[in-house]
Amino acid sequence: MSRVHDDLADRIRARIRAEGPMTVADYMALCLSDPAGGYYVTRDPFGTAGDFITAPEVSQMFGELVGAVLAHGWQLAGRPQPFVLAEPGPGRGTLMADIVRVLRLVPGLLAAADLRFVEVSPVLRAAQARAVAPFGLEAHWHDSLAGLPDGPLLLVANEFFDALPVRQFVAADGVWRERVVGLGPEGELAFGIGAGVLGHDGLPAHLHPHDDGAVLETCAPATALMGEIARRIVAFGGMALIIDYGHVQSAVGDTFQALKAHRMVDPLATPGEADLTAHVDFGALARAAQAAGARVHGPVEQGTFLIRTGLLERAGQLGAGKTAAVQDELRAAVERLAGPEQMGRLFKVMAVTRAGIATPDLPGFSGAL
Ligand code: SAH
Repeated sequence: MSRVHDDLADRIRARIRAEGPMTVADYMALCLSDPAGGYYVTRDPFGTAGDFITAPEVSQMFGELVGAVLAHGWQLAGRPQPFVLAEPGPGRGTLMADIVRVLRLVPGLLAAADLRFVEVSPVLRAAQARAVAPFGLEAHWHDSLAGLPDGPLLLVANEFFDALPVRQFVAADGVWRERVVGLGPEGELAFGIGAGVLGHDGLPAHLHPHDDGAVLETCAPATALMGEIARRIVAFGGMALIIDYGHVQSAVGDTFQALKAHRMVDPLATPGEADLTAHVDFGALARAAQAAGARVHGPVEQGTFLIRTGLLERAGQLGAGKTAAVQDELRAAVERLAGPEQMGRLFKVMAVTRAGIATPDLPGFSGAL
């Protein structure tokens, strides 16, 4: 273990000793984004040698199909010039590079794009700059979405919302009580129950604290962000594509998890050294977008979305006349991205547009889940 991350664990324990237990959200935010020891701030976590692989890192086909849908969204929005092309949490920049290779095939589109990334990590900002440099595009970076310029917006977010800090509440005697991170008997980090409670009067019945020990998660930063994106789209036009693992309807369940070297680990064991995530509540995101006056399309399962938008055709094109090894690789990528046991069902794709856009006009979204 490196010094820096030992320091983050020490600092978290010291803070708990001084101020008392912290919420799961505060713990998650420190572990991921602490300027000195935060997971994303200190490393490039992607790839086989890293902690996890995302869809754009599996195959260029993912970004190409997403790019084709964004190009369609630009046309439906009336080909706005200029417009803001934005991606929060771009990782290595691989997705945007694949998207741009498709967007440049549409006359007038790329010349109208004002490229904006929202990224906390200096390491990853540098990787993103390298990824889009070959296209002669000038990118700008922001610490938060609020910094984006006004104007028509095409936005894509893949595996971004799952990194936003969640609060957790545990059912006890008919009350949702806040789960906190405190110290156990040996001074180790340990979950506990804090003083905070979540009133459930405004929640639908299936989200009430019926069963002792059940867990409910809330993610105010996610719904706030979705509301902000939707407001911009309602005001200026455009489209957002949100892709992530999660559930279509809000539900009770503990989805807080840690990944290190492609394995699930204890989220309290190595603060700052494991990726911490929670499943995205697409039901809550959809309500936030609708409350802002936008239209929500989907969510649909990623496998369905990719097959409908041409994954198999694209794989066939890329494999034509190539070696058996290349064709095997393409088949494996298709399986990984769209297979029901792999990313195909767990991951969902949701689009947000102005109210005037009909779902059947958007490739990938029309029909069943
Ligand atoms: N979209 C990429 C990367 C997903 S990982 C891909 O599909 O490969 C999550 C990304 O979000 C990383 O780039 C991480 O540094 C960034 N990130 C995490 N929390 C953030 C926050 N609060 N604000 C901005 N970026 C954040």
